[in-house]
Amino acid sequence: MDFAHYIGGEWVADTEITTNTSPANRDDVIGTYARGGAARVDEAVSAAKDALSGWAAASPQIRHDVLERAGALIVERKDELGRLLAREEGKTIAEATGETIRAAQVFKFFAGEALRNTGDAVASVRPGIDVMIEREPVGIVGLITPWNFPIAIPAWKLAPALAFGNTVVMKPAELTPGCAWELAKILDEAGCPAGVFNLVMGPGSKVGARIVEHEDIAAVSFTGSVATGRQVAIDCATRGKKVQLEMGGKNPMVVVDDADLDVAVGASLNGAFFSTGQRCTASSRLIVTAGIYDAFLDRLTAAAADLVVGDPLDAKTQIGPVVDQSQLDQNLGYLALAAEEGCDVRGGGLGNGNGFFMHPAIFAGASNQMRVSREEIFGPMASVIRVADYDEALAVANDTEFGLSSGICTTSLKLASHFRRHANAGMVMVNLPTAGVDYHVPFGGRKGSSYGPREQGSYAREFYTTVKTSYIAP
Ligand code: ADP
Repeated sequence: MDFAHYIGGEWVADTEITTNTSPANRDDVIGTYARGGAARVDEAVSAAKDALSGWAAASPQIRHDVLERAGALIVERKDELGRLLAREEGKTIAEATGETIRAAQVFKFFAGEALRNTGDAVASVRPGIDVMIEREPVGIVGLITPWNFPIAIPAWKLAPALAFGNTVVMKPAELTPGCAWELAKILDEAGCPAGVFNLVMGPGSKVGARIVEHEDIAAVSFTGSVATGRQVAIDCATRGKKVQLEMGGKNPMVVVDDADLDVAVGASLNGAFFSTGQRCTASSRLIVTAGIYDAFLDRLTAAAADLVVGDPLDAKTQIGPVVDQSQLDQNLGYLALAAEEGCDVRGGGLGNGNGFFMHPAIFAGASNQMRVSREEIFGPMASVIRVADYDEALAVANDTEFGLSSGICTTSLKLASHFRRHANAGMVMVNLPTAGVDYHVPFGGRKGSSYGPREQGSYAREFYTTVKTSYIAP
């Protein structure tokens, strides 16, 4: 075994291992990683419990310095970490390096947040009494992360958890333990005290389930699939745990007649296909009004066919592989379903090489009622839905069980403003791809996409702290 768990400041080996291979080349072995179970979670929780009172009481300066150093170490190692990320997840080296820099920015932002944890002093309704409202750590926080952003998502859960004085047990996705392991090493080097951060790798059914179940874990932040997320929420609710979920999307990109065609095609291409469509903010429904539909579809089809699919480490590549065989099989299933449901399927063939490569696919002539337009696919595929006008476009955009990100391409301020007000989503994009967000503002959605307080930016404090109201008489 090459890479051990990180528990109580020690590297802890396991007899079982997970072999981490690249989706771009099945023969490229990145390393073997410890594969734990419930007992390792218990050890990690015990270490987190021992460390909690010290970390919760630590000066904000100490917490700031650890996070700031972690951010600096990530920046120093950005090329190496970006390469690891591209190898283990399959996104292009440019996307992977960008994501790594994003992780560093998140750590640095929350280093500052540790110093900005203000409260309120309020006049009491009773004479002579002072009222104070303060934020305290929640306690031990369990973090369960997915494979599609293997360094940014751990960073945006971990950094606020630590900034506000919580201790952490984190479980990364089985497909991408490498980046999470590097984060553990970086936090160790950054001087994070023993037990404050603990990494346990292994299957969701054992490690994840035990995190959700453990009575000493006060809060769980989860990003992953809808099915698992809903179960996590139920299991947390029955145990009285605080819970935050980020799950799927079926994000619409509306293109209206007055759109700038270059902007609309560029934003749709990026939103639908970049990162191989494996983003919860991907545009998987392109909703296009009748007057621009044919021109848009022709341009999009040509642009998608020109995208270079291949080795993520090659700088010319624009679309890397799908993450694994089961995701590829699922994608191919949706490709066949799109044809069965009556779409004009354009593209979508398998790529060359010893990895899980497929070309982007467009489901032209789709309706919003088809399964391919309702279910999250999580691959480089998008429905193109023709509608009569803006009003129908808005209704179709909102007609989904999800509500993460919603986009419109238009040159009309009136339509853009109307859409911004009426899109039933947590994030709205005007003349921009539905994916691609800033790190210092809230991230999250509505309906089936998200549950609980927002992640990222100053809004992250809501989840990672609990409020105490004190009354003081002289
Ligand atoms: P995806 O399809 O994106 O892999 P999952 O919801 O299966 O989505 O996985 C997201 C994260 O949740 C992963 O770290 C996974 O190991 C974990 N997980 C899977 N099943 C469970 C479970 N029953 N309880 C807790 N975590 C789980």
